[in-house]
Amino acid sequence: MEESKRPLTAWYLVGVVAMLIVLQLLLTTQTPETLSYSDFKTLLQARKVNDLTIGDSTIEGTVDTAGIAKLLAPKTAAALEKATDEHGAHRFLTRRVEDPGLVAALDAAKVHYEGAADSHWTSTLFAWLIPGLLIAGLWTMMLRRTDAGPGSIAQIGHSHAKVFVQKETGVHFSDVEGIDEAKEELMEVVRFLKDPERYRRLGGHIPKGILIVGAPGTGKTLLAKAVAGEAGVPFLSISGSEFVEMFVGVGAARVRDLFQQAEKVAPCIIFVDELDALGKARGVAGYGGNEEREQTLNQLLVEMDGFDTNSGVMVMAATNRPEILDRALLRPGRFDRHVAIDRPDVRGREKILRLHARKLVLAADVDLAAVAAKTPGFAGADLANIVNEAALHAARADKKAVEMSDFDSAIDRVIIGLEKRNRVMNAKEKQTVAYHEAGHALVAESRPNADRVAKISIIPRGIGALGFTQQQPTEDRYLLRRSELLDRLDVLLGGRAAEEIVFGDVSTGAEDDLQKATDMARHMVTQYGMSERLGQATYEAPRHSAFLDSPAPPERFAYSEHTAQLIDEEIAQLLDEAHRRVATTLNERRAQLESLAQRLLRDEVVTRDALDELLTPPAPAPALRS
Ligand code: ADP
Ligand code: ZN
Repeated sequence: MEESKRPLTAWYLVGVVAMLIVLQLLLTTQTPETLSYSDFKTLLQARKVNDLTIGDSTIEGTVDTAGIAKLLAPKTAAALEKATDEHGAHRFLTRRVEDPGLVAALDAAKVHYEGAADSHWTSTLFAWLIPGLLIAGLWTMMLRRTDAGPGSIAQIGHSHAKVFVQKETGVHFSDVEGIDEAKEELMEVVRFLKDPERYRRLGGHIPKGILIVGAPGTGKTLLAKAVAGEAGVPFLSISGSEFVEMFVGVGAARVRDLFQQAEKVAPCIIFVDELDALGKARGVAGYGGNEEREQTLNQLLVEMDGFDTNSGVMVMAATNRPEILDRALLRPGRFDRHVAIDRPDVRGREKILRLHARKLVLAADVDLAAVAAKTPGFAGADLANIVNEAALHAARADKKAVEMSDFDSAIDRVIIGLEKRNRVMNAKEKQTVAYHEAGHALVAESRPNADRVAKISIIPRGIGALGFTQQQPTEDRYLLRRSELLDRLDVLLGGRAAEEIVFGDVSTGAEDDLQKATDMARHMVTQYGMSERLGQATYEAPRHSAFLDSPAPPERFAYSEHTAQLIDEEIAQLLDEAHRRVATTLNERRAQLESLAQRLLRDEVVTRDALDELLTPPAPAPALRS
């Protein structure tokens, strides 16, 4: 409700501006023609002026315009003739010049004259006093609101102003396309919200918090709204970034408030957008506002621990940077369920385009599949943007329907914007990523102890990864043999090795792989006792290897300089040998590397089935098929 008061301030401003404009118009119509002092003197001597009002700095009066054309420049004369006031008199104004002979001249000309404090006191009044009064009035009004009214500054801590409550989001799962896996995961949440009683009876475990992870514009907010819409429950949302600029204590109060509101309208969904702004790991260097952020974060944790899932409140949050989140947020009972949204693949993009183009009148030549093919790496929001741009483009040309050419220029436009923000891969980069991922996958396929490849993709994911090869372990593992670790090392190095072999050059894209490989090699040497030269000893206490762990440095045991050198050498050797093995494998499978990379470039995603088909040589007996 408080929101509705806000626009009022805007209306006051509009009112003031309008009045000023009106005043200005009034004043300009009344303003007499300004004459130079010499012109005035000329007119005075010719006895053409009368009824003078002599102020401190100006002289005002009327002119008899008959015959002045001979006395003055034609332009000035014409202007004087036009400058009539409401009584039909031609008025003039002149700036006073130091002129001791003025009064004598006036007397000589026998004109009627009088003195005035300032001939323009009225305009001064209008120009200064009234706006001044208005501003003062506005100020008092604002102060009064600050003191008492809802939505005032003094009340921010208790205000609901920035908690957006939607009774009905009106968004449904049918409004979300191309991210089917995430959609399916959230169906269960909908079922719970629709019928919490049933779950309660069965004693089922309902997640308290769901973290939606995905690149900007992939539809995280949309999906959360769809969950609320499908379940028919209210949607309360706040954005993490809003807490950053607040006064200490205010953010925490607002979080408390949010949960109180939520409990009142439960079952409902609380949605925290940009959770990373709020939930950055505590202690991680930040600029300003740290204390406030931590207090707010702590309050969020307290609230999440405090409420019972059975109350029907479900907390959802979105982030595109899960890696920087405070671990405390991800513990059981908090955001313990993660839903990842990938950028859509070709088919997904086509569906999203179709969805958004539903309302447009499309010309027969429009091929949305072709548009989808031209927009790899685009998120849902980018595609919605393209449809909109295409419609605008067609409208500008006054077309009856949106044509393919409109889509083409829309794509160009949107790509330029995305390139500026560094969010789109060019063709060359895409190629590099394709060979890189193909390298990972082929090495994984050729190692008996490596996990099976489930899916390969060159659709950028998150901020860092430009593509990924997903492996699926066939069973849970608690122990790993040395041979298995070596195979994993190989898989990690496969990406870069492929780049080397194909392009004779390497890219920065392998940084993460190298980091992981080095870590693994170091673990093998210093913790698992898997190096012959160093023997059966550990040199470092294990560090927690859980995902999203805050990066605490491993605890180093005391060892000699010589041992330190040995460790380094052993790590280097492990990596070196792995690199050599991988290069051999990929050179042997060069043809497969080529075909897999080409397939990736075409389809962007290669599933297990497609991979099998690609890697098994064609059946040797076509004769059977006659
Ligand atoms: P995020 O929260 O991930 O940054 P949003 O949910 O705000 O992205 O998406 C912005 C807009 O982009 C949505 O309102 C919708 O119009 C469009 N959009 C994004 N993803 C999709 C999708 N998967 N299907 C349909 N429209 C989408
Ligand atoms: Zn890689």
